[in-house]
Amino acid sequence: QFPFGRRLPCDIYWHGVSFHDNNIFSGQVNKFPGMMETVRKITLSRAMRIMQDLFPLEYNFYPRSWILPEELPLFVAEVRMMKDNNPSWKPTFIVKPDGGCQGDGIYLIKDPSDIRLTGSIQSRPAVVQEYICKPLLMDKLKFDIRLYVLLKSLEPLEIYIAKDGLSRFCTEPYQEPTLKNLHQVFMHLTNYSLNIHSGNFIHSDSVNTGSKRTFSSILCRLSSRGADVKKLWSDIISLVIKTIIALTPELKVYYQSDIPAGKPGPTCFQILGFDILLMKNLKPVLLEVNANPSMRIEHEQELSPGVFENVPSPVDEEVKVAVIRDTLRLVDPQKKKRKDTHTLSEIPGPAVQQGGGVVCEGAAALHKRRCCSQALFQGLGWMDEAPASLRERWARIQGSETDPFNNPFSAALPSLCLKQVFPKYAKQFSYLRLVDRVAALFIRFLGVKGTTKLGPTAFRTFIRNCKLSNSNFSMAAVDILYIDITRRWNSMGIDHKESG
Ligand code: ADP
Repeated sequence: QFPFGRRLPCDIYWHGVSFHDNNIFSGQVNKFPGMMETVRKITLSRAMRIMQDLFPLEYNFYPRSWILPEELPLFVAEVRMMKDNNPSWKPTFIVKPDGGCQGDGIYLIKDPSDIRLTGSIQSRPAVVQEYICKPLLMDKLKFDIRLYVLLKSLEPLEIYIAKDGLSRFCTEPYQEPTLKNLHQVFMHLTNYSLNIHSGNFIHSDSVNTGSKRTFSSILCRLSSRGADVKKLWSDIISLVIKTIIALTPELKVYYQSDIPAGKPGPTCFQILGFDILLMKNLKPVLLEVNANPSMRIEHEQELSPGVFENVPSPVDEEVKVAVIRDTLRLVDPQKKKRKDTHTLSEIPGPAVQQGGGVVCEGAAALHKRRCCSQALFQGLGWMDEAPASLRERWARIQGSETDPFNNPFSAALPSLCLKQVFPKYAKQFSYLRLVDRVAALFIRFLGVKGTTKLGPTAFRTFIRNCKLSNSNFSMAAVDILYIDITRRWNSMGIDHKESG
């Protein structure tokens, strides 16, 4: 740790909280400017709403959400209208304070009139969201999935997903929400930080039992029940790509503001934590995106009343060590040089050598667990698309892996757990990058570097150059639109640095 900064430049800077932890002019930083702001509950909901308005079917993986307090009247009106249209609809909603985490301040309601308007909501904005009442259960318990995603680059967009994640379990058997059980957090909220305080929380050294398990162990269970886990993975990949596409316009404006093109600056990458809920029908639903996912590989254990100790958590270690190790391998500044001799990191893992099929006979031993997830991934077709030349090369490298003199780079490293999904699947998603292109135009017309707002004259020029004005949309209307947008943003009390 260098709280006062380093005098010598580094290749990689690993910041604890945000991009702005230090002044940096070169190398790579593990945070993007503006990421924390962009994935806050309100900003994420707004970005998803824009995409839902443009591409309703493609973005139906995000629950219908309203921003409080400003959309309270809209929320009330829409719910009333939906209830009138469908009297049998008995919804539940979840209210989540903006910027909250670990389940802090979250509560469930049955009716918009139950929103707690006293005090906090005015000072603390929130998102109210449709509650997913029929989640997939395992051992009668609700659980969610934490998946790690590496945003390796914004321009060009490069996304990797870790092939294993965590599943965090509730500690009370799930029942659909009723007025009687709405307050039971151990039944409805999967947060580890809440459930750890339940007497039913089970610490387990095994990855497929207890209150925190690996996602691959869930996939194994589902696969043994005949579920289509290949489709589930492809739905999750598509959810991750679409979510990042929704976030990139805002991120690019921040990026341009902090690291203007042509000025010396670092490049950025970031590990994100995606929280996903599976519905009963296996449809994945995005709950939220975390800019600073916990990378702890220990958990607290109460030895005797009031006496706590940090003990290793094998499940966290299994998943998180691989994510950090592979992130460093992918951003390794020396990698480019090595690539000329070995293309190891781009080559699919050992599953290429192994037989196919899904292995599910439990995962007591570590190597067995790895086989399980690798085989699963091969079953999912992540790895079997490698061209023959790469496979041959991989086989050669594998053969030499035990001999560090033959292959000094990959000697003790397991295969990559992070798999590229973008640009690999870019073609299927390029039509969704509409707002991204608008952001590129916006940045183009910002004029002044280091700002994220267009003034009224620049806004006129922007509209004119985009050929958006016509007989129905006069320059007077453009001015009114500008005033309207500015007023709306100001009334939200949003920090003026936030992009427009
Ligand atoms: P926090 O950042 O405070 O953890 P989340 O958005 O992750 O907030 O919500 C906390 C928990 O509440 C989630 O882990 C999940 O169990 C539950 N939850 C959140 N949103 C929904 C929803 N729309 N439907 C069902 N459960 C939800």
